[in-house]
Amino acid sequence: MSTDRSLARCSFCGKRSPEVKHMVAGPGAAYICDVCLGLCLEILHDPAPFSPRALELASRPPVVIAAPQELPAPSITGAKREPLRAIIIELEQKQQDRTMMLRELQLYQEHFELHYLWIRPPFRAGFAFVPRIIFQVSDNLGNLWAGDRGGMVLARPELSNGPHLAVYQGYARFSPLPPLETRRLTIRAADPLGQFEQPPLLPWQFEITV
Ligand SMILES: [Zn+2]
Repeated sequence: MSTDRSLARCSFCGKRSPEVKHMVAGPGAAYICDVCLGLCLEILHDPAPFSPRALELASRPPVVIAAPQELPAPSITGAKREPLRAIIIELEQKQQDRTMMLRELQLYQEHFELHYLWIRPPFRAGFAFVPRIIFQVSDNLGNLWAGDRGGMVLARPELSNGPHLAVYQGYARFSPLPPLETRRLTIRAADPLGQFEQPPLLPWQFEITV
């Protein structure tokens, strides 16, 4: 497949060739600009496992590459961040040394979000993995949501009460919205790394009424 190089955009920040000093071409339509390359080098030299910069880079919305410039911006970036309705949940479950706190369900025009705090022992340095929680949501009508791209998780060291616990604040996105007839949501949340624990962690499970 050929790629129109005149549409080159940095796959990490979306900037076009004329907007940057240098652009390094990768296979197909993949590119990286000098600024993003510099940021990657800084992250490589940072001993912290999840520096805010690494998390920021990993949680950027995907860049549409080699596509017409007229393409409408994805709704993730264009949507305003005020929910139409917010339901405070404040449910907390502890399992071994990890805690999941579901804080809020936010309903937007075309998607909904689950906002949470994830408290666990800190990841060891050199961990080449972006921490994440996998969610599965179902309702009393049998609808099932597995999550969309565009959620995010951020380290919140200022919320931790000591070096033995790390706090991450995040949200997961889902679409479409639950139908109006939905009365109850069952939310299951899994820490994929929990599979390596002895015994393995089970998914957390929460029931909320909407
Ligand atoms: Zn870039």
